[in-house]
Amino acid sequence: GGIRFISRLAERSVMVETDESLMPAVSRFVGDETPTIVEGTDAVLVDEDGNEYVDFFGQHATMSHGYSHPKIVDAVVDQFETLNFSAYDFPTEPSRKFARRLAEFTPGELERAYFVNSGSEAVEVALSLARKKTGNHEFLALGEAFHGRTLGARSLVGWHGYRKNFGPFVPDVTHVPSHNCDDFPGDVDPEDGSEYAELIEYALKYQAGDVAAFIAEPMMGTAGNIPAPEGYFERVREICDDHDILFIADEVITGFGRTGERFGIEHYGVEPDIMTTAKSLGGGMPIGATIATADVADAFESMDYFSTFGGNPVATAAGLASVEVIEEEGLVDAAREKGEYFVDRLHSIQADYPEIGAVRGKGLFIGVDLVDSAGAPLPKERSMEIRRQALDRGVILPAGQGWRGNTIRISPPLTISTDQIDLGIDVLCECLDEI
Ligand code: PLP
Repeated sequence: GGIRFISRLAERSVMVETDESLMPAVSRFVGDETPTIVEGTDAVLVDEDGNEYVDFFGQHATMSHGYSHPKIVDAVVDQFETLNFSAYDFPTEPSRKFARRLAEFTPGELERAYFVNSGSEAVEVALSLARKKTGNHEFLALGEAFHGRTLGARSLVGWHGYRKNFGPFVPDVTHVPSHNCDDFPGDVDPEDGSEYAELIEYALKYQAGDVAAFIAEPMMGTAGNIPAPEGYFERVREICDDHDILFIADEVITGFGRTGERFGIEHYGVEPDIMTTAKSLGGGMPIGATIATADVADAFESMDYFSTFGGNPVATAAGLASVEVIEEEGLVDAAREKGEYFVDRLHSIQADYPEIGAVRGKGLFIGVDLVDSAGAPLPKERSMEIRRQALDRGVILPAGQGWRGNTIRISPPLTISTDQIDLGIDVLCECLDEI
């Protein structure tokens, strides 16, 4: 009770006025009464009144293993009872084991991990590490990318809505137009990603050799779950090598099976120098990791970096259990297979629902653009109406997202069942019928 929501649609977010003891926060949901969640199992959340919701958002693609996975719960409880904390003086067994496990689980030469507490922090470490390694200070990032909300990470985000009132920014960043084929200016072949990557080469002409790294999400999440076209990252890798700059893959949202490969970048057969991870890394525990090749990680030796809670044994024990769950339960394959099923179901209703425009994605990382009768993006208010109606029907359907505010960003727990996917499709149809 006592929660009042004020729509701030122009800012593409919704401010929440809470009781006096909480600062206003940005809510992903809207409604006169948004429920307070008290419990979660697998893909289902339960509110204080006992209502159940199938979660097609996975709370920003974080809950890949499903809510309160028993194996991760046990790992956390056991570790908290045995040793709940150590900082500075001693590394702990779970942090050592987890770092070693990540070296095996991540692609190629990525073999050293530094643990932090969130995705933004992992990005901050990557920026500092890239500067230290190269001696250069500038960065290249994609105009529609998202990398976090701490000051350095936010500087990498090109979109005005995320930058307004937060500058001046810290690192020197040049934003390069993204590989988002729909609105790319000029005459390029949307199937050939290497053409979009040439913009990075072009931008580098004006940097006077001061660029430390190019950073990108292998598939843009906040922009609307948009995979890069084939060939894009292959050319990115060549350009970075030619110019002696590092390639940072921000896998905070695409890592750990979400896209039907262990990591998003593996779809493109390319290896980054630094990878940033968080979200599903800890199966619900707050933990992030910056993972680098040994060559790059060596620069860390002479760098002053310390995070009190980073790599604490409880979070790393959760991480270790999370990776085991992914492997034991075959969640990478599950994401791929269920994602294909989901996309097929979406295509099957498209003829009856012209509001469903582009459907794209890999694994359970799917973007569905809603359009009006003229094919233009459905106004955000109408998407939000769909979201409210779906919630009333027991489904969390993350409509009203992406850069144009008209994308449903589907990223449920990878444990979701096909029956639950069918329910989501039925509810989407009912909501589209209503509006
Ligand atoms: N990088 C990417 C690609 C993200 O999607 C996010 C969060 O959505 C972040 C970084 C920031 O992560 P966090 O919210 O844990 O700081």
